[in-house]
Amino acid sequence: MTNNDRVTGAAALLATYAAVFALYLVVPGRWVEGYVKDQSGRPLRYHLNGLAVFVLSVGAFAALAHAEIVSWNFFYVHRYETLATAFVIGVVFTLAIVLRQMPTGRGLFKDLYLGRLENPQRGRIDAKMFLYLIGAVMLELNLVSFAAHHVLTHDAPSPGVFLYTALFTFFLVEYLFFERVHLYTYDFVAERVGFKLGWGCLVFYPFFYCVGLWFAAEQPSPETPLPLLVLYAALFFLGWTFARGANLQKYAFKTAPDRKRFGPFEQRAIGGRVLASGFWGLSRHVNYLGEILMASALALALGYPASLWPWMYPLYYIVLLVPRQIADDARCKEKYGPIWDEYVAQVPRRIVPGLF
Ligand code: NDP
Repeated sequence: MTNNDRVTGAAALLATYAAVFALYLVVPGRWVEGYVKDQSGRPLRYHLNGLAVFVLSVGAFAALAHAEIVSWNFFYVHRYETLATAFVIGVVFTLAIVLRQMPTGRGLFKDLYLGRLENPQRGRIDAKMFLYLIGAVMLELNLVSFAAHHVLTHDAPSPGVFLYTALFTFFLVEYLFFERVHLYTYDFVAERVGFKLGWGCLVFYPFFYCVGLWFAAEQPSPETPLPLLVLYAALFFLGWTFARGANLQKYAFKTAPDRKRFGPFEQRAIGGRVLASGFWGLSRHVNYLGEILMASALALALGYPASLWPWMYPLYYIVLLVPRQIADDARCKEKYGPIWDEYVAQVPRRIVPGLF
Protein backbone atom coordinates (compact mmCIF):
# COMPACT_ATOMS: atom_id res chain seq x y z
CA MET A 1 0.00 0.00 0.00
CA THR A 2 1.60 3.26 -1.15
CA ASN A 3 1.09 6.76 0.25
CA ASN A 4 -0.82 7.55 -2.94
CA ASP A 5 -3.27 4.71 -2.20
CA ARG A 6 -3.76 6.05 1.32
CA VAL A 7 -4.49 9.56 0.07
CA THR A 8 -6.85 8.19 -2.60
CA GLY A 9 -8.88 6.23 -0.03
CA ALA A 10 -9.07 9.14 2.42
CA ALA A 11 -10.00 11.61 -0.32
CA ALA A 12 -12.67 9.26 -1.70
CA LEU A 13 -14.31 8.93 1.71
CA LEU A 14 -14.24 12.70 2.25
CA ALA A 15 -15.62 13.31 -1.24
CA THR A 16 -18.37 10.71 -0.72
CA TYR A 17 -19.49 12.19 2.60
CA ALA A 18 -19.34 15.73 1.19
CA ALA A 19 -21.34 14.71 -1.90
CA VAL A 20 -24.03 12.99 0.19
CA PHE A 21 -24.27 16.09 2.37
CA ALA A 22 -24.57 18.35 -0.71
CA LEU A 23 -27.28 16.11 -2.19
CA TYR A 24 -29.10 16.05 1.15
CA LEU A 25 -29.14 19.86 1.03
CA VAL A 26 -30.37 20.32 -2.52
CA VAL A 27 -32.43 17.29 -3.56
CA PRO A 28 -36.15 18.04 -3.29
CA GLY A 29 -38.14 16.09 -0.73
CA ARG A 30 -41.30 16.44 1.30
CA TRP A 31 -41.82 18.30 4.55
CA VAL A 32 -43.54 16.26 7.25
CA GLU A 33 -44.34 16.68 10.92
CA GLY A 34 -42.56 14.29 13.26
CA TYR A 35 -43.48 12.76 16.60
CA VAL A 36 -41.07 14.73 18.78
CA LYS A 37 -42.26 18.16 19.88
CA ASP A 38 -40.27 21.36 20.39
CA GLN A 39 -40.32 23.37 23.63
CA SER A 40 -43.51 25.17 22.62
CA GLY A 41 -45.28 21.82 22.05
CA ARG A 42 -45.25 21.97 18.23
CA PRO A 43 -44.15 18.82 16.37
CA LEU A 44 -40.70 19.16 14.79
CA ARG A 45 -40.73 19.30 11.00
CA TYR A 46 -38.47 17.19 8.78
CA HIS A 47 -37.44 17.47 5.14
CA LEU A 48 -37.35 13.88 3.87
CA ASN A 49 -35.38 13.09 0.71
CA GLY A 50 -33.38 10.06 1.86
CA LEU A 51 -34.38 7.58 -0.80
CA ALA A 52 -33.68 10.02 -3.65
CA VAL A 53 -30.27 10.91 -2.18
CA PHE A 54 -29.47 7.22 -1.73
CA VAL A 55 -30.39 6.34 -5.33
CA LEU A 56 -28.45 9.32 -6.73
CA SER A 57 -25.36 8.59 -4.63
CA VAL A 58 -25.20 4.87 -5.38
CA GLY A 59 -26.17 5.56 -9.01
CA ALA A 60 -23.29 8.05 -9.30
CA PHE A 61 -20.83 5.42 -8.04
CA ALA A 62 -22.25 2.86 -10.46
CA ALA A 63 -21.92 5.35 -13.34
CA LEU A 64 -18.29 6.10 -12.41
CA ALA A 65 -17.53 2.38 -12.18
CA HIS A 66 -19.32 1.65 -15.46
CA ALA A 67 -17.26 4.38 -17.14
CA GLU A 68 -14.14 2.77 -15.60
CA ILE A 69 -13.25 5.98 -13.76
CA VAL A 70 -13.19 3.99 -10.52
CA SER A 71 -13.11 0.22 -10.14
CA TRP A 72 -16.25 -1.57 -8.92
CA ASN A 73 -14.27 -2.90 -5.93
CA PHE A 74 -12.81 0.55 -5.09
CA PHE A 75 -14.20 0.68 -1.55
CA TYR A 76 -12.96 -2.85 -0.86
CA VAL A 77 -9.45 -2.11 -2.10
CA HIS A 78 -9.36 1.07 0.00
CA ARG A 79 -11.34 -0.29 2.95
CA TYR A 80 -8.75 0.39 5.65
CA GLU A 81 -8.12 4.01 4.58
CA THR A 82 -11.82 4.77 4.20
CA LEU A 83 -12.50 3.22 7.60
CA ALA A 84 -9.68 5.22 9.23
CA THR A 85 -10.89 8.45 7.62
CA ALA A 86 -14.48 7.84 8.66
CA PHE A 87 -13.20 7.14 12.18
CA VAL A 88 -11.53 10.55 12.33
CA ILE A 89 -14.60 12.29 10.89
CA GLY A 90 -16.78 10.54 13.48
CA VAL A 91 -14.57 11.72 16.36
CA VAL A 92 -14.33 15.30 15.04
CA PHE A 93 -18.10 15.40 14.49
CA THR A 94 -18.71 14.17 18.05
CA LEU A 95 -16.41 16.76 19.60
CA ALA A 96 -17.88 19.54 17.47
CA ILE A 97 -21.52 18.76 18.19
CA VAL A 98 -21.10 18.03 21.90
CA LEU A 99 -18.52 20.50 23.18
CA ARG A 100 -20.25 23.61 21.81
CA GLN A 101 -23.32 22.91 23.96
CA MET A 102 -24.03 23.39 27.66
CA PRO A 103 -23.30 20.30 29.81
CA THR A 104 -26.31 18.18 30.78
CA GLY A 105 -24.90 17.56 34.27
CA ARG A 106 -24.13 13.88 33.63
CA GLY A 107 -20.37 14.43 33.33
CA LEU A 108 -18.16 15.03 30.31
CA PHE A 109 -17.66 11.41 29.23
CA LYS A 110 -21.36 10.57 29.35
CA ASP A 111 -22.10 13.79 27.47
CA LEU A 112 -19.52 12.92 24.83
CA TYR A 113 -20.89 9.40 24.45
CA LEU A 114 -24.62 10.11 24.64
CA GLY A 115 -24.64 13.72 23.44
CA ARG A 116 -26.09 16.98 24.69
CA LEU A 117 -28.46 18.11 21.94
CA GLU A 118 -31.69 16.13 21.59
CA ASN A 119 -32.79 16.95 18.06
CA PRO A 120 -30.38 19.37 16.35
CA GLN A 121 -31.96 21.02 13.31
CA ARG A 122 -31.05 23.95 11.08
CA GLY A 123 -33.16 24.84 8.06
CA ARG A 124 -33.83 21.62 6.21
CA ILE A 125 -30.95 19.84 7.97
CA ASP A 126 -31.87 17.40 10.70
CA ALA A 127 -28.73 15.88 12.23
CA LYS A 128 -30.29 12.48 13.01
CA MET A 129 -31.92 12.01 9.59
CA PHE A 130 -28.71 13.03 7.87
CA LEU A 131 -26.57 10.70 9.97
CA TYR A 132 -28.81 7.71 9.20
CA LEU A 133 -28.76 8.62 5.52
CA ILE A 134 -25.01 8.95 5.21
CA GLY A 135 -24.56 5.67 7.06
CA ALA A 136 -26.98 3.91 4.71
CA VAL A 137 -25.30 5.28 1.56
CA MET A 138 -21.79 4.37 2.71
CA LEU A 139 -22.92 0.91 3.80
CA GLU A 140 -24.45 0.29 0.36
CA LEU A 141 -21.27 1.48 -1.37
CA ASN A 142 -19.27 -0.92 0.79
CA LEU A 143 -21.67 -3.79 0.10
CA VAL A 144 -21.54 -3.26 -3.67
CA SER A 145 -17.77 -2.87 -3.68
CA PHE A 146 -17.06 -5.81 -1.39
CA ALA A 147 -19.38 -8.06 -3.41
CA ALA A 148 -17.78 -6.79 -6.64
CA HIS A 149 -14.36 -7.71 -5.26
CA HIS A 150 -15.60 -11.24 -4.62
CA VAL A 151 -16.94 -11.49 -8.17
CA LEU A 152 -13.79 -10.04 -9.73
CA THR A 153 -11.46 -12.38 -7.86
CA HIS A 154 -13.33 -15.70 -8.06
CA ASP A 155 -14.05 -17.71 -11.18
CA ALA A 156 -17.12 -19.24 -9.54
CA PRO A 157 -18.55 -16.54 -7.25
CA SER A 158 -20.81 -17.52 -4.40
CA PRO A 159 -24.58 -17.13 -5.01
CA GLY A 160 -24.77 -16.50 -1.25
CA VAL A 161 -22.79 -13.26 -1.70
CA PHE A 162 -25.33 -12.12 -4.30
CA LEU A 163 -28.20 -13.05 -1.99
CA TYR A 164 -26.61 -11.29 0.98
CA THR A 165 -26.00 -8.10 -1.02
CA ALA A 166 -29.50 -8.14 -2.52
CA LEU A 167 -31.19 -8.68 0.87
CA PHE A 168 -29.07 -6.01 2.57
CA THR A 169 -29.84 -3.57 -0.27
CA PHE A 170 -33.54 -4.31 0.19
CA PHE A 171 -33.11 -3.64 3.94
CA LEU A 172 -31.58 -0.20 3.27
CA VAL A 173 -33.96 0.83 0.48
CA GLU A 174 -37.06 -0.16 2.43
CA TYR A 175 -35.73 1.66 5.52
CA LEU A 176 -35.49 4.84 3.42
CA PHE A 177 -38.83 4.19 1.76
CA PHE A 178 -40.39 4.20 5.24
CA GLU A 179 -38.20 7.07 6.44
CA ARG A 180 -41.15 8.85 7.99
CA VAL A 181 -42.05 5.88 10.21
CA HIS A 182 -38.63 6.10 11.84
CA LEU A 183 -39.45 9.53 13.22
CA TYR A 184 -41.56 7.56 15.73
CA THR A 185 -38.70 5.44 17.07
CA TYR A 186 -36.60 5.43 20.22
CA ASP A 187 -33.70 7.24 18.54
CA PHE A 188 -35.84 10.31 17.95
CA VAL A 189 -37.72 10.18 21.23
CA ALA A 190 -35.00 9.19 23.68
CA GLU A 191 -31.51 9.67 22.17
CA ARG A 192 -29.26 12.72 21.92
CA VAL A 193 -26.57 13.27 19.30
CA GLY A 194 -23.11 12.35 20.54
CA PHE A 195 -20.51 9.66 19.88
CA LYS A 196 -23.04 6.83 20.05
CA LEU A 197 -25.28 8.19 17.34
CA GLY A 198 -22.78 10.35 15.43
CA TRP A 199 -19.76 8.06 15.32
CA GLY A 200 -22.19 5.15 15.19
CA CYS A 201 -23.73 6.33 11.91
CA LEU A 202 -20.54 7.70 10.32
CA VAL A 203 -18.33 4.72 11.14
CA PHE A 204 -19.93 1.75 12.85
CA TYR A 205 -23.07 1.43 10.73
CA PRO A 206 -21.39 1.56 7.27
CA PHE A 207 -18.27 -0.41 8.18
CA PHE A 208 -19.38 -2.94 10.79
CA TYR A 209 -22.80 -3.94 9.48
CA CYS A 210 -21.12 -5.53 6.43
CA VAL A 211 -18.71 -7.48 8.67
CA GLY A 212 -19.85 -10.69 6.95
CA LEU A 213 -18.50 -9.47 3.62
CA TRP A 214 -15.21 -8.29 5.13
CA PHE A 215 -14.73 -12.02 5.66
CA ALA A 216 -16.61 -13.63 2.76
CA ALA A 217 -15.32 -11.38 -0.05
CA GLU A 218 -12.05 -13.33 -0.06
CA GLN A 219 -13.55 -16.80 0.46
CA PRO A 220 -14.35 -19.29 -2.30
CA SER A 221 -17.98 -20.20 -2.88
CA PRO A 222 -19.18 -22.56 -0.14
CA GLU A 223 -21.57 -23.98 -2.75
CA THR A 224 -24.63 -23.63 -0.56
CA PRO A 225 -27.51 -25.64 -2.09
CA LEU A 226 -30.28 -23.54 -3.62
CA PRO A 227 -33.04 -24.80 -1.25
CA LEU A 228 -30.97 -23.57 1.72
CA LEU A 229 -30.55 -20.13 0.13
CA VAL A 230 -34.33 -20.02 -0.40
CA LEU A 231 -34.80 -20.94 3.26
CA TYR A 232 -32.46 -18.14 4.38
CA ALA A 233 -34.31 -15.64 2.20
CA ALA A 234 -37.60 -16.83 3.76
CA LEU A 235 -36.13 -16.37 7.26
CA PHE A 236 -35.06 -12.86 6.32
CA PHE A 237 -38.56 -11.95 5.13
CA LEU A 238 -40.14 -13.51 8.23
CA GLY A 239 -37.95 -11.18 10.31
CA TRP A 240 -38.81 -8.28 8.06
CA THR A 241 -42.53 -9.00 8.55
CA PHE A 242 -42.12 -8.76 12.34
CA ALA A 243 -39.97 -5.62 12.25
CA ARG A 244 -41.77 -3.67 9.56
CA GLY A 245 -45.21 -4.93 10.65
CA ALA A 246 -44.72 -3.78 14.26
CA ASN A 247 -43.23 -0.44 13.25
CA LEU A 248 -46.03 0.27 10.77
CA GLN A 249 -48.71 -0.79 13.25
CA LYS A 250 -47.32 1.57 15.87
CA TYR A 251 -47.04 4.38 13.34
CA ALA A 252 -50.66 3.80 12.21
CA PHE A 253 -51.79 3.84 15.84
CA LYS A 254 -49.88 7.00 16.79
CA THR A 255 -51.13 8.88 13.74
CA ALA A 256 -54.75 7.61 13.94
CA PRO A 257 -55.38 6.24 17.45
CA ASP A 258 -59.09 5.64 16.80
CA ARG A 259 -58.66 3.21 13.95
CA LYS A 260 -60.37 -0.13 14.60
CA ARG A 261 -58.14 -2.44 12.59
CA PHE A 262 -54.58 -2.73 11.36
CA GLY A 263 -54.66 -5.04 8.33
CA PRO A 264 -55.98 -8.41 9.54
CA PHE A 265 -55.66 -7.45 13.21
CA GLU A 266 -58.15 -5.84 15.52
CA GLN A 267 -56.61 -2.66 16.95
CA ARG A 268 -56.82 -2.90 20.74
CA ALA A 269 -55.03 -0.43 23.00
CA ILE A 270 -54.97 -0.56 26.81
CA GLY A 271 -56.27 2.73 28.18
CA GLY A 272 -56.39 3.94 24.56
CA ARG A 273 -52.61 4.43 24.73
CA VAL A 274 -50.66 1.16 24.63
CA LEU A 275 -51.23 -1.34 21.82
CA ALA A 276 -51.83 -4.92 22.96
CA SER A 277 -52.99 -6.56 19.72
CA GLY A 278 -51.46 -7.64 16.44
CA PHE A 279 -47.66 -7.52 16.43
CA TRP A 280 -47.67 -5.77 19.82
CA GLY A 281 -49.66 -8.66 21.30
CA LEU A 282 -47.02 -11.25 20.27
CA SER A 283 -44.30 -9.82 22.52
CA ARG A 284 -43.46 -6.34 23.77
CA HIS A 285 -40.69 -5.93 21.18
CA VAL A 286 -41.31 -8.40 18.40
CA ASN A 287 -39.69 -5.82 16.09
CA TYR A 288 -36.37 -6.56 17.82
CA LEU A 289 -36.85 -10.27 17.13
CA GLY A 290 -37.47 -9.35 13.50
CA GLU A 291 -34.20 -7.43 13.36
CA ILE A 292 -32.26 -10.38 14.86
CA LEU A 293 -33.87 -12.86 12.43
CA MET A 294 -32.97 -10.68 9.44
CA ALA A 295 -29.39 -10.36 10.64
CA SER A 296 -29.15 -14.14 11.23
CA ALA A 297 -30.50 -14.83 7.73
CA LEU A 298 -27.84 -12.53 6.28
CA ALA A 299 -25.11 -14.33 8.24
CA LEU A 300 -26.38 -17.73 7.06
CA ALA A 301 -26.64 -16.61 3.42
CA LEU A 302 -22.86 -16.23 3.22
CA GLY A 303 -22.55 -19.97 3.74
CA TYR A 304 -19.91 -20.16 6.49
CA PRO A 305 -21.99 -20.99 9.58
CA ALA A 306 -18.95 -22.23 11.52
CA SER A 307 -17.08 -18.93 11.16
CA LEU A 308 -17.57 -16.26 13.81
CA TRP A 309 -17.27 -13.25 11.46
CA PRO A 310 -20.72 -13.35 9.81
CA TRP A 311 -22.32 -13.99 13.22
CA MET A 312 -20.89 -10.82 14.69
CA TYR A 313 -23.70 -8.84 13.04
CA PRO A 314 -26.63 -10.73 14.67
CA LEU A 315 -24.65 -10.93 17.94
CA TYR A 316 -24.30 -7.17 17.87
CA TYR A 317 -28.08 -6.86 17.59
CA ILE A 318 -28.55 -9.06 20.64
CA VAL A 319 -26.06 -6.95 22.61
CA LEU A 320 -27.76 -3.74 21.40
CA LEU A 321 -31.42 -4.68 21.60
CA VAL A 322 -31.71 -6.71 24.81
CA PRO A 323 -30.52 -3.79 27.03
CA ARG A 324 -32.49 -1.39 24.82
CA GLN A 325 -35.67 -3.38 25.51
CA ILE A 326 -34.97 -3.14 29.26
CA ALA A 327 -34.32 0.62 29.03
CA ASP A 328 -37.40 1.17 26.87
CA ASP A 329 -39.62 -0.83 29.23
CA ALA A 330 -38.36 1.26 32.17
CA ARG A 331 -39.11 4.44 30.21
CA CYS A 332 -42.59 3.21 29.25
CA LYS A 333 -43.36 2.12 32.83
CA GLU A 334 -42.53 5.61 34.03
CA LYS A 335 -44.56 7.23 31.26
CA TYR A 336 -47.65 4.97 31.23
CA GLY A 337 -47.73 3.72 34.89
CA PRO A 338 -50.57 1.22 35.54
CA ILE A 339 -51.42 1.02 31.84
CA TRP A 340 -47.93 -0.37 31.23
CA ASP A 341 -48.29 -2.82 34.14
CA GLU A 342 -51.49 -4.10 32.56
CA TYR A 343 -49.70 -4.44 29.21
CA VAL A 344 -46.88 -6.45 30.82
CA ALA A 345 -49.50 -8.69 32.45
CA GLN A 346 -51.26 -9.24 29.10
CA VAL A 347 -48.06 -9.56 27.04
CA PRO A 348 -45.44 -11.04 29.38
CA ARG A 349 -42.80 -11.91 26.75
CA ARG A 350 -40.20 -9.21 26.12
CA ILE A 351 -38.90 -10.10 22.64
CA VAL A 352 -39.51 -13.72 21.58
CA PRO A 353 -43.19 -14.77 21.66
CA GLY A 354 -43.77 -17.66 24.06
CA LEU A 355 -40.11 -17.82 25.16
CA PHE A 356 -38.40 -14.64 26.33
P1 NDP B 1 -39.84 0.68 19.16
O1 NDP B 1 -40.25 0.95 17.77
O2 NDP B 1 -40.37 -0.53 19.78
O3 NDP B 1 -40.22 1.98 20.00
C1 NDP B 1 -40.30 2.02 21.38
C2 NDP B 1 -41.31 3.08 21.73
O4 NDP B 1 -42.58 2.74 21.19
C3 NDP B 1 -41.54 3.20 23.21
O5 NDP B 1 -40.60 4.05 23.82
C4 NDP B 1 -42.93 3.80 23.26
O6 NDP B 1 -42.84 5.19 22.90
C5 NDP B 1 -43.61 3.09 22.11
N1 NDP B 1 -44.26 1.85 22.49
C6 NDP B 1 -43.69 0.75 23.06
N2 NDP B 1 -44.61 -0.22 23.22
C7 NDP B 1 -45.77 0.27 22.73
C8 NDP B 1 -47.08 -0.27 22.61
N3 NDP B 1 -47.36 -1.50 23.00
N4 NDP B 1 -48.04 0.51 22.07
C9 NDP B 1 -47.76 1.76 21.65
N5 NDP B 1 -46.55 2.32 21.73
C10 NDP B 1 -45.56 1.59 22.27
O7 NDP B 1 -38.28 0.55 19.32
P2 NDP B 1 -37.08 1.33 18.69
O8 NDP B 1 -37.43 2.74 18.49
O9 NDP B 1 -35.91 0.95 19.52
O10 NDP B 1 -36.86 0.64 17.28
C11 NDP B 1 -37.54 0.99 16.10
C12 NDP B 1 -37.17 0.04 15.00
O11 NDP B 1 -35.84 0.23 14.62
C13 NDP B 1 -37.32 -1.42 15.40
O12 NDP B 1 -37.79 -2.21 14.35
C14 NDP B 1 -35.92 -1.81 15.72
O13 NDP B 1 -35.72 -3.18 15.60
C15 NDP B 1 -35.18 -1.02 14.68
N6 NDP B 1 -33.80 -0.79 15.03
C16 NDP B 1 -32.91 -1.01 14.06
C17 NDP B 1 -31.58 -0.84 14.30
C18 NDP B 1 -30.64 -1.08 13.22
O14 NDP B 1 -29.47 -0.82 13.41
N7 NDP B 1 -31.06 -1.62 12.08
C19 NDP B 1 -31.09 -0.39 15.61
C20 NDP B 1 -32.12 -0.19 16.56
C21 NDP B 1 -33.43 -0.37 16.27
P3 NDP B 1 -43.97 6.27 23.24
O15 NDP B 1 -43.51 6.95 24.48
O16 NDP B 1 -43.92 7.16 22.07
O17 NDP B 1 -45.27 5.58 23.35
